[in-house]
Amino acid sequence: MKNREYYDAYQAEIAAIKEKGQRPSLLLHVCCAVCACDILTYLSEIFDITVYYMNDNIYPKEEYDHRLSELKRYLEWYHKNYANPIHLVEANYDNAGYTEEMQDYLDLPEFSARCWNCYEYRLVRTFQYANEHSFDYVATVMSVSRYKNAARINEIGEKLQKDYPNVKYLITDFKKDQGEQRSNALAKELELYKQPYCGCANSLREYLARKESSGLI
Ligand code: SF4
Repeated sequence: MKNREYYDAYQAEIAAIKEKGQRPSLLLHVCCAVCACDILTYLSEIFDITVYYMNDNIYPKEEYDHRLSELKRYLEWYHKNYANPIHLVEANYDNAGYTEEMQDYLDLPEFSARCWNCYEYRLVRTFQYANEHSFDYVATVMSVSRYKNAARINEIGEKLQKDYPNVKYLITDFKKDQGEQRSNALAKELELYKQPYCGCANSLREYLARKESSGLI
């Protein structure tokens, strides 16, 4: 599928849900409040949402905790302003397990198999949780970012749906139709923490190297 087709598929699925008058449950993988903030305001009108904070990739633990606390701060704001409740589930943080499983890819650059496997690592665990807890749908907010490859994310989601036939993967490309701009604007308004690097130890090192080469440190 081309990127626009992913967005069309998403819209068709949402239209079908509305047509049936259903309110399915959705386990929504969230990497950070900035990516999730705008999406949750409209997706919560269609789905009964549980946010799944499954991000073993994030290093160090202080950064993981900080992104989680910002997500909680955002959810407090959300619940003061929107009627439909959103639940939050935090997966057990296991950066050592992540690093071990990703061993073969760690030396690769960003936007390569390193990242595709990182998406899959988190989506597999999201599907597992959704399957164990009988969710109707799984999705991830990662497709809102221009730094994430929506086509790869959707290919992985569609592949995993075959392994977990009881859970439907919601194809998305949340960045379309100004989605990323809306997220950034709301995050700015709410003064949400916008992290300077993607998450893993390598992306932190790459960020620091860029900063150093530009003379900022
Ligand atoms: S750069 Fe981001 S997506 Fe890529 S491996 Fe690191 S944390 Fe995962």
